[in-house]
Amino acid sequence: MRLDKYLNDVTAMGRKVLRQKIKEGSVSVNGETVCVPDHSVNPETDKVSLNGTTLSYQKYFYYMMNKPAGILTATEDSRQETVLDLIPDEIKNRKLFPVGRLDKDTTGLLFLTNDGQFSHRMISPSHDVEKVYEVEYEGELEAHSVQRFKDGIHLSDGTVCKPADLSLKRPGFCVVMVTEGKYHQVKRMIAAVGGCVTHLNRVRFGSVCLDPSLKQGEIRELNNEELCILME
Ligand code: URA
Repeated sequence: MRLDKYLNDVTAMGRKVLRQKIKEGSVSVNGETVCVPDHSVNPETDKVSLNGTTLSYQKYFYYMMNKPAGILTATEDSRQETVLDLIPDEIKNRKLFPVGRLDKDTTGLLFLTNDGQFSHRMISPSHDVEKVYEVEYEGELEAHSVQRFKDGIHLSDGTVCKPADLSLKRPGFCVVMVTEGKYHQVKRMIAAVGGCVTHLNRVRFGSVCLDPSLKQGEIRELNNEELCILME
């Protein structure tokens, strides 16, 4: 990897500034000052220092966000705010993208990463990763809807969903667990049993729960315990 790219990945500094720093002699590789930005470094084995401070290279990053309503789950949009607009400037160079999608009006747990394989494993239907939603709805859901969820809901367009869990908590509020991520899936499943979703909040993805201390719009790195659970 080029030295200037390495530094750009590790620090929050722009490439132009970094090239200047390299040319000025502020960067060393394995103890030797290197003044050429395209010098090749191995992030795994080379010791790179900037102004005498040794840097450590991390290839992949994993975050959880408590997504607010009204924000698109996308990496860019010409008119609307996206979840990437919410991440702090100092981590904007980490090339994060959202893992799967939440509707614009859905709130709650969203992972962000730069690890494509991780993202694929989390959202691929073949991996059956559980997603749990708190659901506010209008209308009445009857007790036998629970069995219909277990048997696999038939959506209005003929799509058959995988078995899912429905837990009726009180009138107008239930909890749903699905292992797929079809378009508007939970909203359409609730509609199929006679309800109309008014608010969805994802509280669990795999075995990781939304951190209750994370306010809407906030983001934090996953800790080691959470990462180990998800990587299993
Ligand atoms: N199901 C939905 O209908 N919407 C979401 O955002 C997530 C799951």
